[in-house]
Amino acid sequence: MPRKRSIKARCPICKKEVKKSDSEFPFCSERCRIVDLGKWASGAYVISSPVQDTSEDAPEDDKSKQNR
Ligand SMILES: [Zn+2]
Repeated sequence: MPRKRSIKARCPICKKEVKKSDSEFPFCSERCRIVDLGKWASGAYVISSPVQDTSEDAPEDDKSKQNR
């Protein structure tokens, strides 16, 4: 039975092993962290925000329903 469980992770950028205690976890280094950030910035993970003009007036039918 293993006494210690050494959880090893891999840097998502360069696939190098990273310790969980590492300050840059889950990245092996600051450089890889910045590379990952760069992916977001360059639009690899861009969340499209459709521009919709929803300036419709909501119909107010509630007033007529209150009429008992
Ligand atoms: Zn790395």
